[in-house]
This record gives sequence, structure tokens and C-alpha cells, in this order.
Amino acid sequence: MTMRETNVFAELMLHERLLKAIDKMGFTRPTPVQQAALPEALAGHDLIVGAETGSGKTLAFVLPMLQHFLELRAPNTGTRGLILTPTRELAEQVCQAIKDIAGFTRITTMTVCGGTGFKEQAAEIRKNPEILVATPGRLAEHLERQTLDLDDLEFLVLDEADRMLDMGFRDEVMAIINVCRAERQSMVFSATLTHRGVRALLPDVLRDPKELLLNTPQNAQNNIRQQIILADDDKHKERLVEWLLAHEEYEKAIIFTNTRDKAQWLANSLQRQNRRSGVLHGEMSQDERKHVMGLMRAGKINILVATDVAARGLDIEGLDLVINFDMARKGDEHLHRVGRTGRQERDGLAICLIAHNEWNLMASIERYLRLEFERRSIKGVEGSYKGPKKVKTSGKAAGSRKKKVDRKSAGKGNTKVRQRDRKQVGQRRSDGASRTPAADNRSSLGDGSMPMMRRKPADKT
Ligand code: AMP
Repeated sequence: MTMRETNVFAELMLHERLLKAIDKMGFTRPTPVQQAALPEALAGHDLIVGAETGSGKTLAFVLPMLQHFLELRAPNTGTRGLILTPTRELAEQVCQAIKDIAGFTRITTMTVCGGTGFKEQAAEIRKNPEILVATPGRLAEHLERQTLDLDDLEFLVLDEADRMLDMGFRDEVMAIINVCRAERQSMVFSATLTHRGVRALLPDVLRDPKELLLNTPQNAQNNIRQQIILADDDKHKERLVEWLLAHEEYEKAIIFTNTRDKAQWLANSLQRQNRRSGVLHGEMSQDERKHVMGLMRAGKINILVATDVAARGLDIEGLDLVINFDMARKGDEHLHRVGRTGRQERDGLAICLIAHNEWNLMASIERYLRLEFERRSIKGVEGSYKGPKKVKTSGKAAGSRKKKVDRKSAGKGNTKVRQRDRKQVGQRRSDGASRTPAADNRSSLGDGSMPMMRRKPADKT
């Protein structure tokens, strides 16, 4: 049985050194995104791939890149492969995956991210590692200061392109693309393919690309139970968190807040309760972040309080509980948070704590996901907030949003369908779990933008 399964990767005619590493990592068969992307990428096509985090997308671009480098000797000594990621943590993660898969080869890689001395980094780059895994800001700085060029580049990947653009890296990404060698293979990965910014970028990055849609936000995360608990204020939420951490069954938990101040405040509170917990936010140094992630991965702590920017793309084994202390400000942000759990088809639980000023936001995210979060209350820790009086006309904001959607979809006639669909799909099942609908029920707000939601400045997280 194992022999046949190993052959699934072997059938792709991958280099024996890569197959050896895959074997060592214990992977017996490609995940769906790998199944779809690997043959196309190995045939040399440019790709745009819609795939959720946790789907195995890293190997879907790392394997073809390494195969290409092993098949063709480098004509020159410059950088051969570049992977751009939105965050340092994701860059570290991708770099580690490359090291694992290239473990039986001489191919070298390094991360190029902020938070590390520029000169030391430039010296490392001069040693010509084949593959750079970088965040756009620092990489653009190296290009500008001419400590790096991309004249020899053969393989370019934009990982989590939607996140990268949402974080405001468009100019840096464009500046980088403009100096990449034109003769190259490129791949773009994004959780949402309808993202307008990503779409606009594609002609500059890809040539005659194949489009692979593995998962839409709406059909992802079927194995994650999603609940809401109403709360009065942060103090009440603090008590709810305390109760949940004491009574829920979980191996590891992550708690999201919208600001770093609140993350720190909550982390202090958990430490006072002697919980094995850590905090991850944008103000921490790279070393501090690495240290906390190491503790979490090793299981020395089992609770992480984090802001979105710091936790984006993280893959932590055994994470089965996500608590949104603050509701995410956008539908896609919510998906990314919730996607920290339930990875590789394991079951997960995601709980949002909803104060009165977050109700409309929560309702609009339900509409975006076409899903009804399971309502839950905890005996003995209930607050006085019971939700809006009339759920059907839940305040002005929901009404005004509906009008916007009506205008947007005028002529398409899909607003009514959306309303009707909602009644049929994502309803609470008899066991209390909500399920997401199938892929064909795609939202007209596929880019995850919520007209009624305002984003706070990124430097707060
Ligand atoms: P990614 O979406 O690339 O972050 O991958 C998510 C997780 O899936 C990582 O922990 C990978 O090591 C793991 N993974 C990737 N490919 C496979 C595979 N073919 N079989 C089992 N696990 C995999």
C-alpha cells in the first residue's frame, strides 16, 4: 500500500533526491493542491492558484522549483529562485520547507526579511544562495541599494499574494517584478482569486498562465466548527476566555486581538492565571517572535495571544482552538485566523466573542461565508448583552450595506439568490455544527471586502 502511495509522487518523475526527502518527511501522496499544480508547474507553465493556507501549497511551488534547478545547471551564479511572502514568519516557514525538501541536494536558501542587520544580510546574499525567500519591503531595499540583482532569476513565486497586497506592499512588489529577468517561470498563490488587486497584478507577473481554483473561501474549512458567544466588554471577554481555556478540550489554542496593546494586556492576564501562554505581535523583535514560536511548536506553551499581522500564514501543529477576542475586520482576515486550526483535515473549533459594536461585522462575515455561526452561551458567565432586538433588521449598517450590494449586483440579479441560499446552506446541523456550502455558491463579495468595515492602520497590529 505504502509502495503504491509513494509512487504517486514518483509518477511525477521528480528527481530521486527530492523523492528521498519526501519519503523522509513521511508524505505518501500529494494533497489536492499539489495534485493539481505539480504536473502543470513541472511542465513549465505559469500558474495562478487559489488555495487556502494549510492545503500544502508550499510544496506545490517548492518541488517544481527544485526539480528545475536540479535538471538545469545554473548558467550564472546569481539568484535563481525568489519567493515573496507577506510576513517574516511565513518566510521562515517556507525557507524551512525548502531546506527540508532540498536536504539531499546542495541547493541553498536564505530569508531576506526586515528585523535583521542589513549589512550582514547583504554579505550572506553575496554568497549566492540559489533561492531567496523574502518579504517585499526588505527585498526592494536590497535592489535599491544594489546589494542584489535579479538578472538571473529563473523562478518567481508570490505566496499569499492577496495578503501581501492587503498589507500595502503593492509598490514594492511591482518594483521587484519590474527588475526580474523576463525569461522565467512564475506562480501566484492567493486564498482568494477574485481579489481585485491580485487580478490587476497578474499581467505583469504571469505569461499565458493556467488558473487552478482549489478552494474558495466559502467551501474551505468544512472541518471547523464556528461559534459565537455574546459579550459585554473586554473585561467580560477576559472572563469568557478564562472559562474557555479551563473547560474546552484542546491541544493548542490561539487567541486573536485586533491591537497589540490588547494582545499584551490579555497575555499578561493569562500569565497571572499561570497559563502556559505567549504573545506574538508586530512590535516584537524577530528574535522574540522566533523564540515564542519555538516554544509554541515545541509545546512548552500551548496558548498564543496574537495579532493578525504576526500570525499570518503560521502553521502550528496541534492547533485546534481559535478564539477571536476581537472579531476580524474583514471576511478574509477571519478565514485566515480560523484557518490556523483544522489543518490537514483535522477537526478544529473557532469561537468569536461578540460585543454589541461587533454584531453587524459578525453578521456581514456570516453573509460573506454563507454560514450561520453556532450561537453559544456559557452558564454562569453570561453577560447582559443579548444581541440586537430584531435580528432581521439588525440596525442601520446592515440595511445600508444591503443597498450597496443591490447596486453592485444590479443586472446580475444575484442578491435574492444570495438571500435565498442563506436559508438553505450553512445552517446549524442537528449536532450543532455549522457547515460551509459548496463552491458554486460564491459570494459577489468574493474579494472579502466589506463595505461597512473600516480597516484600522496596519501599524497597530
Ligand atoms: P502549507 O499549506 O504548505 O503550509 O502546508 C501545510 C502542512 O501540510 C505543512 O505542515 C506541511 O508539512 C504538510 N504537508 C504538505 N504536503 C503534504 C503531503 N503531501 N502530505 C502530508 N502533509 C503535507
